[in-house]
Amino acid sequence: MDEKKRTRDGTLVIPGDYLGVIEEYLPGEGVIEENGELYATRAGRVRINEKKMEISIEPVTDTPPLPKVGDIVIGKVVEVKPQATIVQLLKIEGRQGYREIATSKLAGIHISQVREGYVEDMRKEFKIGDIIRARVITDEKSPIQLSTRGADLGVVYALCSRCRNPLVRRGNQLICPKCGNVETRKVSSLYRKLR
Ligand SMILES: [Zn+2]
Repeated sequence: MDEKKRTRDGTLVIPGDYLGVIEEYLPGEGVIEENGELYATRAGRVRINEKKMEISIEPVTDTPPLPKVGDIVIGKVVEVKPQATIVQLLKIEGRQGYREIATSKLAGIHISQVREGYVEDMRKEFKIGDIIRARVITDEKSPIQLSTRGADLGVVYALCSRCRNPLVRRGNQLICPKCGNVETRKVSSLYRKLR
């Protein structure tokens, strides 16, 4: 009989993969025993509980994560209306970096949620193509609603609307180093500092 390797915690397995012998571990969720040997019954990640001496398979979800209230998200401005800016969500910020979101997911920023205080003209805060960092404030409505209130929220990357060169930040203004164009945005303190 071939010598079989011991399975490590976190290994990705598919149904039928050999996991070990019953003398080592008890079969948990997603694991069956056959003639003293343990096999995966579902695709997922191996989880070994040393205290309980149990091996189980944690299912791997293929569905992209959905943004929840409080999440920080990265998105791209697709439309600027008088009362709301529409954003295509790209990523959710997490403890382990960024996770991709289904690309079709849209979100809105109401004019009252752009910044502290009154916003006169949405077009001075955001432009199509801007990359923004925002907080999810409702996830029940469709589209979900975001806020860019707060110093580290707002535009993190923007192009010159005249020549498409990346703008550089000077205070609360954005300046085009190529053509000298000066633009305004709701700029984040993390402008061009992400990742
Ligand atoms: Zn320019």
